[in-house]
Amino acid sequence: MLAWQVERPGPIATQPLRRVDRPVPVPAPGELQVRVTASAVCRTDLHLAEGDLAPRRPLTSPGHEVVGAVTALGPGVTGWEPGQRAGIAWLRGTCGTCGYCTRGAENLCRQSTYTGWDADGGYAEYCTVPAAYAYRLPDGYPDTELAPLLCAGIIGYRALRLAQLPAGGGGRLGVYGFGASAHLATQVALAEGVSVHVLTRSPAARELALHLGAASAGPADAAPPEPLDAAILFAPAGGLVPVALAALDRGGTLAIAGIHLSDVPPLTYQEHLFYERTLRSVTANTRADGRDFLAFAGRHRLRVSVTEYPLAAADRALADLAADRLTGAAVLIPG
Ligand SMILES: [Zn+2]
Ligand SMILES: [Zn+2]
Repeated sequence: MLAWQVERPGPIATQPLRRVDRPVPVPAPGELQVRVTASAVCRTDLHLAEGDLAPRRPLTSPGHEVVGAVTALGPGVTGWEPGQRAGIAWLRGTCGTCGYCTRGAENLCRQSTYTGWDADGGYAEYCTVPAAYAYRLPDGYPDTELAPLLCAGIIGYRALRLAQLPAGGGGRLGVYGFGASAHLATQVALAEGVSVHVLTRSPAARELALHLGAASAGPADAAPPEPLDAAILFAPAGGLVPVALAALDRGGTLAIAGIHLSDVPPLTYQEHLFYERTLRSVTANTRADGRDFLAFAGRHRLRVSVTEYPLAAADRALADLAADRLTGAAVLIPG
């Protein structure tokens, strides 16, 4: 089968990904074998390819937003049948017994493993997934639109929850950066009656934000038209942390959604943190987040902006993401 692997992590211009021919993977005990029908490209794939995240396993295929059809069951799998549609996401394994796992914070498990980092992911015609970490997918979406829900969607959903908008609905949310994850989280917030202000350097993304129903859209470093109850930083730009904190109302929270962020400049206590403003990160997600978000997507049809690429052009899709030439999510389609 055709697959891509991270050969030599480095700047995207040095072509860190290599296209290879590999045997179709055989499912281990407890795993599903999946024929990939759509595999979305996440900014984390770029961090893996460029070496911002150190490789954990050499020559691994990236790709952790994968939709496909189950083609074989490993020994001991119950509850899945060949032919069913399955979703594969970033979180691939946890110990299940540590303090984090048993208190509902399996995303923090020190033994957690990840698709496309610890095991081959969906930049391939086939991959495998532990059945306990595979998702059932909502009806009403084509596979290409389901794929970005599996990381961009789930992480955006967790970030929105951790941003702690006022209980009871409504509130004012700032969204900094407007890629695949932000455009999905924005729709969840809008469906919940939140007033959303999008702040991003891309004019095309600002246009999409207004089209989806954002109350305002401006440049990333501009002040929103009203103080914010909460903000989510999706852009991997630490320089925006003080900008977003300064835009918060008293008691507001800034959640940083990305796995990688450039350095945060010095903060001033009075200007950025006093009046009980909270700054917090978002680290991966639990399976419960994934199930909650996919259930939401089943009840509320999200508009998913995608750009399709053939699987054979995965390197070009990643280069386009690196150069900010994308609006919405890139999705790889095996031939
Ligand atoms: Zn654990
Ligand atoms: Zn991701």
